[in-house]
Amino acid sequence: MNRKKELDKLDEFYSNLKEEDIVGEVKFEIDKGAFKGPFTCHGKKASLVEKKISYGDLDFTYNIWQCGKCKKEYLDFEQARKYEKFLIMKKVLQDKLITIERSMNYDGKTFFFRFPKELTGNLHKEDLVDIKLLSTDGRMFLVEIKQGR
Ligand SMILES: [Zn+2]
Repeated sequence: MNRKKELDKLDEFYSNLKEEDIVGEVKFEIDKGAFKGPFTCHGKKASLVEKKISYGDLDFTYNIWQCGKCKKEYLDFEQARKYEKFLIMKKVLQDKLITIERSMNYDGKTFFFRFPKELTGNLHKEDLVDIKLLSTDGRMFLVEIKQGR
């Protein structure tokens, strides 16, 4: 596949990405307005419940809010983020992540690479890049673009 086709496909993937795809597998509701629980359901405050899921050797514990009456599960913003991280890790293990290959650039002092234009619509000059070192040889990183102040 040539580069242009690859990027078109990527672009299509991202524009078709829905919330269901991100949260996937587990049924719960993310209350968009609410950043913090407890949520109210059936006139009562939902209680904090610990959930466990495993993928291979990877065990993951996270909390949800659950209604004592209808058992409906709610995730607040932080819980949703944590769960999303698990899904990402799972995809890493399954080798199912979208991969983009870029050429390394070197200006005589610094190494750098460029992001595909198609993926930068959501980025801003003020954003901060959070880089986590994943391997000791300095060749694997987890890069997260955080909203700048
Ligand atoms: Zn309920």
